[in-house]
Amino acid sequence: MEAVPPGKRERNMKVAKFGGTSLADAGQILKVLEIVRADPDRRIIVVSAPGKRSKDDTKVTDLLIACAKAALERGEAEAELALVVHRFAGIGRELDLPSALLTEIEQDLRGRLSSDRSHKGLFTDAVKAAGEDYSARFAAAAFTRKGVPAAYACPREAGMVLSDEPGNAQVLPESYARLAALRGRPGVTIFPGFFGYTKAGRIVTFPRGGSDITGAILAAAVKADVYENFTDVDSVYSADPRIVPDARPIELLTYREMRELAYSGFGVFHDEAILPAVHANIPINIRNTNRPSAPGTMVVPERPAHTGGVVGISSSDGFCTLFLSKYLMNREIGFGRRLLQILEEEGLSYEHAPSGIDNTSVILRDHQFTPEKERHVVGRIRKELAADDVEVERGLALLMVVGEGMSHTVGLAARATRALAEAAVNIEMMNQGSSEISMMFGVKADDRKRAVKALYRAFFE
Ligand code: ASP
Repeated sequence: MEAVPPGKRERNMKVAKFGGTSLADAGQILKVLEIVRADPDRRIIVVSAPGKRSKDDTKVTDLLIACAKAALERGEAEAELALVVHRFAGIGRELDLPSALLTEIEQDLRGRLSSDRSHKGLFTDAVKAAGEDYSARFAAAAFTRKGVPAAYACPREAGMVLSDEPGNAQVLPESYARLAALRGRPGVTIFPGFFGYTKAGRIVTFPRGGSDITGAILAAAVKADVYENFTDVDSVYSADPRIVPDARPIELLTYREMRELAYSGFGVFHDEAILPAVHANIPINIRNTNRPSAPGTMVVPERPAHTGGVVGISSSDGFCTLFLSKYLMNREIGFGRRLLQILEEEGLSYEHAPSGIDNTSVILRDHQFTPEKERHVVGRIRKELAADDVEVERGLALLMVVGEGMSHTVGLAARATRALAEAAVNIEMMNQGSSEISMMFGVKADDRKRAVKALYRAFFE
């Protein structure tokens, strides 16, 4: 870290992450430039790959995934590669960047596509990560050209070391000490989001939307005063505006509230990005690139005035329930452990496990519980646990009603269940008390939007 001369206060430092729509075209990149220029504390900038320019557009990351898929299936990806190059050529032309930059990235992408394909996951990650890498190189060149000296930072050299899990990597603790050195760099540093390197030097990516995670890791590593997360909405809203168009903006959220909301459908911020900020106690400010004057939503460790009310309602589908019953299950020592062990051995992570006396259910993400896995797991449970009945129900949505201090407020559950009953939504499952700050309801996916509207009316109108 930069040595601070005695008597001189160390400069403030902000890490600002910009999402895909903020880098979708030259006009958007210039908005990012003005935001960075407006505040000299914004010294580390994390960028996503160019996202959608309009509703029907395709994100560069999706174009790159198509490249990797074509190369794996057909042995070449010329048509797909041309689309990526075309996208960057347009941006480069409008920003008046040297053509050598485009030649460089085209050669680089060809190199990635002709690299070793023996491990499909690693191959795909190397191709998929290119969008963020080129986005950072372009932004650094554009900033410098427009009078804001900026340098691209290579995640390998900077020390973004990740676990060996393609598409689902996690940061290794040693990264933090190495990345801390970024604080001492002069000018503006532009860091590509979404990917890092394994110890063996292979590129791996975080889950989709993972540039938020990169930003949070850097903010924690350099001990930033704030982690600004610029996206394309003014703030986080108390319900999904696609379901409740006039949902209220939220000014202040706690980490715990954000975590619960991000878990079940609040797409504005990746749920895995909260942890690094929490550990380092860094406030997160979610803001809009298209309206930088809006204060956005602050996510902080604690809310000073404890209101105890509901702050948000989130929802997400894509869950299923594995339901088991066995008479006298409550007396059978080790039943729960053996059930969870089967799931562990089958590589399945579980989300929730509400249980009764002679029955228990486990909620899983639908996508990981393929019909083949289902047959296998159900067979094992019947045989190894001698369950009386095992059933799987698909098409489940989870709703979360979230707010600090909810557990101390009388009558909230009654209000929620009444609202759902009045909207004729059947509650498949309910979980209150496991978390102090939320209530969870399982409903049929078809009822999800109706349920969110009903809960919103009950708590906010
Ligand atoms: N570009 C990546 C994605 O589309 C990562 C990100 O934007 O955060 O998932």
